[in-house]
Amino acid sequence: MMIVMRADATQREIKTIVDRVQDCGAQAHLSEGQERTIIGVVGDVRSLPRDEFVRMPGVDRVIPISRPYKLASREFHPWNSEVSLDGIRFGGPEVVVIAGPCSVEDRGQLLETAYAVREAGAHALRGGAYKPRTSPYTFQGLGEEGLELLAEARAATGLAVVTEAMSPAQVPVVTRYADMIQIGARNMQNYALLHAVGESQFPALLKRGLSATVDELLMAAEYILSHGNQNVVLCERGIRTFETATRNTTDINAIPVLKTLTHLPVILDPSHSTGHWEYVEAIARAAVAAGADGLIIEVHPQPEIALSDGGQSLKPERFAALVRQVAAIAEAVGRSMAPAKAPLAN
Ligand code: PEP
Ligand code: MN
Repeated sequence: MMIVMRADATQREIKTIVDRVQDCGAQAHLSEGQERTIIGVVGDVRSLPRDEFVRMPGVDRVIPISRPYKLASREFHPWNSEVSLDGIRFGGPEVVVIAGPCSVEDRGQLLETAYAVREAGAHALRGGAYKPRTSPYTFQGLGEEGLELLAEARAATGLAVVTEAMSPAQVPVVTRYADMIQIGARNMQNYALLHAVGESQFPALLKRGLSATVDELLMAAEYILSHGNQNVVLCERGIRTFETATRNTTDINAIPVLKTLTHLPVILDPSHSTGHWEYVEAIARAAVAAGADGLIIEVHPQPEIALSDGGQSLKPERFAALVRQVAAIAEAVGRSMAPAKAPLAN
């Protein structure tokens, strides 16, 4: 349930309520708006003394949250939340672009891609070091060596780094090197991982499961939020349907649906959602037109020899043209592209 405070409620009144909620064995999460504070109460709320809260000083009203996810819902947090990453803001007025290779393959490949995507206007660098591959016989990623290369690329380019952890055991090492931790589609319901990422407080990119509904995605986000981490960005990356012309089916509907149901930032991955580089540009434009807060796009200098997902990776020149197109779409829908990084001094 939500305890909506009056606009003139004092900090002391808010604290008294938070303490009382905790005494009752539930958790209190504050959502502080410009006008008033809302206290989200989660846990087993059936046994809480609702009438007592209604009468406590500073309380305007007590209302149930109708959705199964509480902290992720717009009912609890009506304002867009923003997730900041080294000067980049997801969920604000500006559109953010993360780009880079599917996998970190070697130093040359990573640095070349990082400089190219930076030059093209990307705001953060992606690259997998721990790869969730369908076949155990394909490239599994460089592990910690890949993370070291990502850290080197960040030092060289100033781009924040986004990379995946597949298990709770990988969370400490990934957070040591990266700026944002990715939970991949295959791990959207890895509850131990969600728990560990929740406790880490580290910015998280949560990708929608291959066959997950929007509600299941939001329930997965709720695990991270309820373990204390409010820095969650959601990612639509296509879902399984009967269609085989593309690797997955981009659920473009999910963007306005998620933006309605949740305050969390929402980005789209047109690389995995289509599986073919030829379709990436159209779907990236569509996503921003539909209200996405950003994009995550696979880019490789030589897609034909990529160790993973070459067929869906853009070459740097095409990616640069796409960033310009997306900037125009952003303007057309009343937003703008986050500014590109200043050119590097030679
Ligand atoms: C990836 O981003 O490289 C990846 C494996 O994506 P997904 O988890 O969406 O399949
Ligand atoms: Mn990939």
